[in-house]
Amino acid sequence: TELYDLDNNTYRHVSSMYSQAMKGISQGIFVPHVTALCKGCPVKDACWAVDGKDAYRYPIETTITAPTEEDKEHQ
Ligand code: SF4
Repeated sequence: TELYDLDNNTYRHVSSMYSQAMKGISQGIFVPHVTALCKGCPVKDACWAVDGKDAYRYPIETTITAPTEEDKEHQ
């Protein structure tokens, strides 16, 4: 493509996206982003978000639980 001027906002945007990604990687946090591109994803078989056939081998950790009926009564 032709050259583009990467102004301050672009630099801040890219820096922020990369630093947040690096924080996620260091903490083992990977948030799936389901799009049409998932069809070509090399790890889709292991991805729970697209119901990958091997996803059961990589269970996700959850730290929150769905509200119980009792919780709902107190809301
Ligand atoms: S299949 Fe899963 S890991 Fe792959 S791009 Fe889609 S959401 Fe991300």
